[in-house]
Amino acid sequence: MHRVIEACAYAARKHLHQRRKGVAGEPYVNHVIDVALRVSRSTAADDDLLIAALLHDVIEDTDGTAEEIESLFGPDVAQVVLEVTDDKSIPKAARKAAQEAEVKHKSARAKRIKLADKASNLTALAESPPLHWDHDRALAYVDWAERVIAGARALDPDLEAAFDASLALARRSLVAKG
Ligand code: ZN
Repeated sequence: MHRVIEACAYAARKHLHQRRKGVAGEPYVNHVIDVALRVSRSTAADDDLLIAALLHDVIEDTDGTAEEIESLFGPDVAQVVLEVTDDKSIPKAARKAAQEAEVKHKSARAKRIKLADKASNLTALAESPPLHWDHDRALAYVDWAERVIAGARALDPDLEAAFDASLALARRSLVAKG
């Protein structure tokens, strides 16, 4: 079984009716494929990391569960997806603060997915900005993403450089509009 393409198909089914909030309204699965593509550029990439990247938003944003992911893709993948899943039972501001505080305590796999996820989101912010976000909201997101990733540095030079390039791209796009 080719587990990576199985995971891609599973993610596409789970995110079937979701779209990105950017002006282009991309299918949500484009985002998780982008995150997997980004982590694939790490010299540390292996199948479990690619699969966890493809599934990183399944628990948070769909009816998929850790148990289902474990039964299909194994406990290692399920564990990493859980690590990058926000606790939606707590208010959004507290969730965002928790991401900042907790990244440095996470596994290397989880940190790599965070680096790629935030890079993907910052690139999307520059290229297809959310329709209803004003300049201040976009700037606050960029600043927050940079603070989260402060806890994932000094691990993977390739993913860190790619994140920094996306961060610079997002900041330039805000200056251009600002
Ligand atoms: Zn994501």
